[in-house]
Amino acid sequence: MNPPRYLAPPTIAEAVRHLAEEGEGAYPLAGGTDLVVRMRAGLVQPTALVDLQRIPELAVIAVQDGRVWLGATVTLAKVVASPELRRLTPVLAEAAAQMGAVQLRNLATVGGNLASAVPSADLAPPLLVLDATARITGPAGERALPLEQFFAGPHRSVLRPGEILTGLEIPASDGGTGAAFLKFGRRSAQVLAVVNAAARVRLHRGVLDEVRIALGAVAPTPIRARSAEILLRGAPPDRERLDEAARLAAQEARPISDMRATAGFRREIAQVLVRRALEQAIRRAELEGLRHAL
Ligand SMILES: Cc1cc2nc3c(=O)[nH]c(=O)nc-3n(C[C@H](O)[C@H](O)[C@H](O)COP(=O)(O)OP(=O)(O)OC[C@H]3O[C@@H](n4cnc5c(N)ncnc54)[C@H](O)[C@@H]3O)c2cc1C
Repeated sequence: MNPPRYLAPPTIAEAVRHLAEEGEGAYPLAGGTDLVVRMRAGLVQPTALVDLQRIPELAVIAVQDGRVWLGATVTLAKVVASPELRRLTPVLAEAAAQMGAVQLRNLATVGGNLASAVPSADLAPPLLVLDATARITGPAGERALPLEQFFAGPHRSVLRPGEILTGLEIPASDGGTGAAFLKFGRRSAQVLAVVNAAARVRLHRGVLDEVRIALGAVAPTPIRARSAEILLRGAPPDRERLDEAARLAAQEARPISDMRATAGFRREIAQVLVRRALEQAIRRAELEGLRHAL
């Protein structure tokens, strides 16, 4: 077996051209923390690796008109450390801080986490509740789609041959908004999630006028818990309703049993995590509301 050709283009256009020229066996390479492990295990055999790390535009975090732009090769460590992200999208930093260990966070990227399309990808739930849009560039030009439509199944995204995820656009949050991310793993660090969950709410005059709930590792792709969201939207966050929403969210899950947990256990954990994530998000929304009122 020949080692893969290594290409390190300086622009997105050249990366796309290389991927097209090298054909099916060419893979974009970001931090390599997932891809290299899969290559070593013989699960994938790339004929070419197109390194995205030399493309400056992909490594940018920017805020414009209140919208956050998060480039695909921004590392998890930068997500944790970025003052803009900590201020505007703290739930993302909260999730990234719980991923792997410091060595992994220095290499692993946002785009790699999403493009690997594993059901347990920890950045998916927070980005789903933040209503992120995925920006994609390929041989046919650029396109954008809601992140929810990006995942197609375990290890499958909707990226077409030759396409690169270039980054994510996240709308600004209004006052009175709070979000939280929780992860349950078999140890407290360095593990993939048995279940992960994020919730984001906006409280207006004691009523939840915006609610988003997302779960990972409980279905072939990360999911939104729509029926739970609908139950809560427009309602005050009382205890019974939160309990019922968590129950509905767990029902929406379609977990499998694997070496990390049984399907039944995952469903129970999903219910607990959604309940706690909602509580935390509501507390943070209340605090945010108070801060705005001062
Ligand atoms: C010890 C260890 C601990 C880990 N802990 C966690 C954890 O806690 N939570 C978690 O979610 N994951 C975890 N992971 C999995 C992995 O590290 C992360 O998913 C990471 O974010 C992947 O990013 P990367 O930049 O290394 O991707 P890479 O390995 O470079 O790429 C992953 C896949 O995505 C493709 N790709 C990468 N970037 C792009 C792009 N911009 N456009 C199109 N395709 C692209 C590659 O071709 C490849 O198929 C862990 C892995 C290890 C080895």
